[in-house]
Amino acid sequence: PAACRQRAQLRGLALVFAHLGGNERSYHKPAYFARLLQLPGHVQQDVSEFARKLLEHVEVVIRKQPRAPGQPAPDNFVSRLFEGRHAYVTRCLHCGYSNPPESSFLDLQVPVKGCPSLQTALQRSLEPSFLSDDNQYACSRCGCKRDAVRFQELRRMPPLLTIGFERFAFDLQTLERRKASDSVSIPDVLDVRAVATAAATMPGSEAAPGDAAGCTPAQEAHVGAAAADR
Ligand SMILES: [Zn+2]
Repeated sequence: PAACRQRAQLRGLALVFAHLGGNERSYHKPAYFARLLQLPGHVQQDVSEFARKLLEHVEVVIRKQPRAPGQPAPDNFVSRLFEGRHAYVTRCLHCGYSNPPESSFLDLQVPVKGCPSLQTALQRSLEPSFLSDDNQYACSRCGCKRDAVRFQELRRMPPLLTIGFERFAFDLQTLERRKASDSVSIPDVLDVRAVATAAATMPGSEAAPGDAAGCTPAQEAHVGAAAADR
């Protein structure tokens, strides 16, 4: 029955983390867990979408578990533990206007190509890019196209930060998806505020605001074996 299968899924997920934490190998193949989730093993999933669906599913399953009398129902622990806030800011370099919509994230995707460490990868994902020439930004305050700077701004970090490695990139020259096999070192403690500050003060990015580093309240993320790879 469904309840039995769902309990097996929770045990399967616990086993995946047990292997990741205690395994002497640097990887773990969770084929049994994919079977418990009734996923076809040969289909590649989008890691960010998969993580979101898995967390939502785990929350639903845990809510359905029998509780002792008087034991309160679990809260929305997925958003409480894993959800942060960020914004993709586009700032006009003429008038300074920006109106970024803030949104929530359950994970941050960082590039791995040419990034020897997690700090470098995260910094790369926060660095500003410049919109100029054919790529100018239509500023609603100026009423015309202007040079602009675009960057991701971290507004609030979750208690548990999930980071996904973007190993696949589309090569515009060969028109093929390529996998970057660069290995990335992971520190015991990741100071997100220091990384965001470094990204905001990249040479040539004076236009990026100092508050790009304004991630609060938990600027340090303790990094475990849960860094999702793909
Ligand atoms: Zn403007």
